[in-house]
Amino acid sequence: MAPNSMSFPMFFVMFSIAFPVVVTVTFMYRNSSFGLFEGYSEGNLQRGTSQNVTTAAERLPNVTETHGFQLGRAIQNTTHDSSGGKDQGNNNSTVSSKCGVKERQRRSQNHTSIEGRIKNNIITADDGSKIASLTSSKNDSTPAHVNLDDNDKLLGGLLTSGFDEESCISRIQSHLYRKASPHKPSPYLISKLRNYEEIHTRCGPNTRAYHRSMTMIEHSKNKGAATLCKYLIWTPANGLGNQMINLAATFLYAILTDRVLLVEFGKDKHGLFCEPFLNSTWILPRKSPFWNEKHIETYQILLEKDRASNSTEDLPSVLFINLQHTRSDPEKYFHCGHSQDLLQKIPLLTLQSDQYFVPSLFMNPFFNQEVTKMFPEKETVFHHLGRYLFHPSNEAWKLISDYYEAHLAKADKQIGLQIRVFSPVSTPQQAVMDLVLSCTLKHKILPQVDLQTSAGKNQTTVKAVLVASLYREYGDNLKRMYRKNPTLSGEVIKVYQPSHEEHQKYNDNKHNMKAWIDMYLLSLSDELVTTSLSTFGYVAQGLGNLKPWLLYKLVNNETHFPPCERDFSSEPCYHFPPKHYCNGEPLKDIVSSFPYLRPCKDFRVGLKMVKDSI
Ligand code: GDP
Repeated sequence: MAPNSMSFPMFFVMFSIAFPVVVTVTFMYRNSSFGLFEGYSEGNLQRGTSQNVTTAAERLPNVTETHGFQLGRAIQNTTHDSSGGKDQGNNNSTVSSKCGVKERQRRSQNHTSIEGRIKNNIITADDGSKIASLTSSKNDSTPAHVNLDDNDKLLGGLLTSGFDEESCISRIQSHLYRKASPHKPSPYLISKLRNYEEIHTRCGPNTRAYHRSMTMIEHSKNKGAATLCKYLIWTPANGLGNQMINLAATFLYAILTDRVLLVEFGKDKHGLFCEPFLNSTWILPRKSPFWNEKHIETYQILLEKDRASNSTEDLPSVLFINLQHTRSDPEKYFHCGHSQDLLQKIPLLTLQSDQYFVPSLFMNPFFNQEVTKMFPEKETVFHHLGRYLFHPSNEAWKLISDYYEAHLAKADKQIGLQIRVFSPVSTPQQAVMDLVLSCTLKHKILPQVDLQTSAGKNQTTVKAVLVASLYREYGDNLKRMYRKNPTLSGEVIKVYQPSHEEHQKYNDNKHNMKAWIDMYLLSLSDELVTTSLSTFGYVAQGLGNLKPWLLYKLVNNETHFPPCERDFSSEPCYHFPPKHYCNGEPLKDIVSSFPYLRPCKDFRVGLKMVKDSI
């Protein structure tokens, strides 16, 4: 029957039945939560979305071929899951994902793994009410439209999306190599990071705001200026570990003071890290007049002037702050409100330090409120900021992931052993080796060898030991020991040492690359042994959220008991914290004034952040 032959009341009745049906069907088709259900219901997998499935599978050729891991399937499913048929392919890895055997095992046990969660979705998808709560729960910080795989890749929102994935493969693959962190970034930290990224994009190098602000600063060096943007230039001091923990602290200071962080990276650091900020660079342009600028006023002089005249009228536009503490330094009062009031009026600060001065930011009453909101778990500052800032470049990542796949992935357990000898001339290797064995055997990190027999027991589990040291003898000794005799526990111990540089080198790119690779591989361990006071170890423990066993720092031929102690958090230690209150009184009982700080286990003069409950 043609419409024009239908009576109007009849047409009206049919229209009022058909219209809601059409609208509902269209909505179901488009709506992602319906799509989630549809995607997983039997028989529907191929319908409407088969195009996407094929595309996602094609993008991940290595996944099942190389490792037999089911990630490819998980990503296919996730594509269905959140897109409801729309093209989400670009949000998934366009770079072939790799994953070690061990990680596969971890993931199959881990309920928060990609597969686990997708299974969860399927199960809950059978129950309509649960689907609704899974995709729209207010308590769940994952927005309904965010692909679960993205949430893993972006470390729970710590990282922003939108990066060209090929340009920094480690950014999207690191989560496949690490245990999922139990520490989620707070919503406030995430909002501060997104806000910082916006400032960096607006004011970073190659923007109009950058050129205008920098020109103004340059022309008013000694008389102060109000600029569009304010800057904080980080300059390196000491080894790579010192630099990285300090850079993380400097970044936090930049966030707290709304400054753009720019780094003075020389050739020694070229190609180590990816750019951390979207659509911008953090590298201070080589032609900047402030690169290595020596003729600028110093913070110490500013404080002296301020004390003498109590006047802040003639503040400079550029100031050099040296926070390289030593035991005998005069107090810097950097943690004090008054100093920060002065500093915030200066548009460009250049900061040099080798210290993890984060605890001093908690000691400042204004910053304290902010950092406490950003880091409700105070002992996770480096864990979050380190994973936000330091992504191995593609070159570094290839070396790291290849090494991991070749040697470490198949082990049941990975042990990281960082042996730093601070005084190699006065410390005999045997004394260090004795200390290492005494610690690792006592705490059953490594098993005893069976000296009675050379025939192994039923060997079931394999432990891979990654030795990081400047000296090859430590790795060689361990290898020999476990090659010659079986272990009493029946475990097989495989020892690997990626490099042995023999001595610390300065301004050497390849040397720094090896250091970065060692630190990163250590951070992937299940259990970590580090050397007291070594910032190299701090980077590994912080990235990996590991509480290390701290080897006593030997400086001569001695034996020490206990040989090592377990640290109480993964935060780096602030070796030389302030010694005075802001009124000049000596800081005596630090814990009663600042209950979230404790003396470090490896250096009692130092301080570090602890959980509130400790
Ligand atoms: P810290 O001195 O132990 O606090 O650590 P730093 O990283 O600040 O300085 C030590 C430097 O020596 C490193 O950056 C490396 O250049 C080198 N180094 C020390 N230990 C190792 C190691 O185990 N592996 C490698 N590759 N380099 C090391």
